[in-house]
Amino acid sequence: FSGNKKGVVEFKNVSFKYPDAEENILSDISFTAKPGETTAFIGSTGSGKSTLINLIPRFFDVTEGQILVDGVDIREVTQKDLRDKIGYVPQKGILFTGTIASNLRYGNPDATDEEIREAAEIAQATEFIDSKPEGFDTKIAQGGTNVSGGQKQRLSIARAIAKNPEIYIFDDSFSALDLKTDAALRKALKKKTGDSTVLIVAQRISTILHAEQIIVLDEGKVIGKGTHEEL
Ligand code: ATP
Repeated sequence: FSGNKKGVVEFKNVSFKYPDAEENILSDISFTAKPGETTAFIGSTGSGKSTLINLIPRFFDVTEGQILVDGVDIREVTQKDLRDKIGYVPQKGILFTGTIASNLRYGNPDATDEEIREAAEIAQATEFIDSKPEGFDTKIAQGGTNVSGGQKQRLSIARAIAKNPEIYIFDDSFSALDLKTDAALRKALKKKTGDSTVLIVAQRISTILHAEQIIVLDEGKVIGKGTHEEL
């Protein structure tokens, strides 16, 4: 599993209920997200988009059905082997105590300075990093108060890129970016993620216009699947 570098993500009739909850949040979800493609999830607030992608790194386990990564049920591999394959960016960027560089190295301690800078460039973060007197050695203040929400998001995105994962998961990670930065970032990212599988939850249609597969969720069910032209 760990030696097999592909990143195919397959949902087979997945239903999910939060522990102690009465109702299913997801019902009978099936799709395949392929390497080299972007699969985007849209749907109104509360439709289950975050819940769905959170099942992939196993923040929760499915109630029914199966999730396979490269043909293997994700409950059959260690959490470490599974998460090693995944670069996950939550809605709100999370920073740890330490420098900007150590934050970017979090998922890949062996990343070189060049790799860190490249990841920051793709994430459109170098301008504000270089504007700080200590650049990549800038210390993140307790609670991340010396970086803005959008900068935090970009550092979180850069951290995922520096990991060079087979599977990228972006949970509405571009929402705090202005349209121009959003577009530049996605263009650079597309080049970098070439063979990776990209899953993205988005609010803005422009973010997902070029996705190879768009999945529309409503009350935990798939009500549409296809490209933007098809939908
Ligand atoms: P948004 O666009 O607002 O982020 P979403 O489509 O991502 O919404 P989810 O966050 O997956 O939707 O929420 C789907 C449903 O699951 C909601 O009704 C929410 O209240 C519920 N829910 C989310 N997280 C939990 C949790 N940890 N425990 C119980 N219920 C939850």
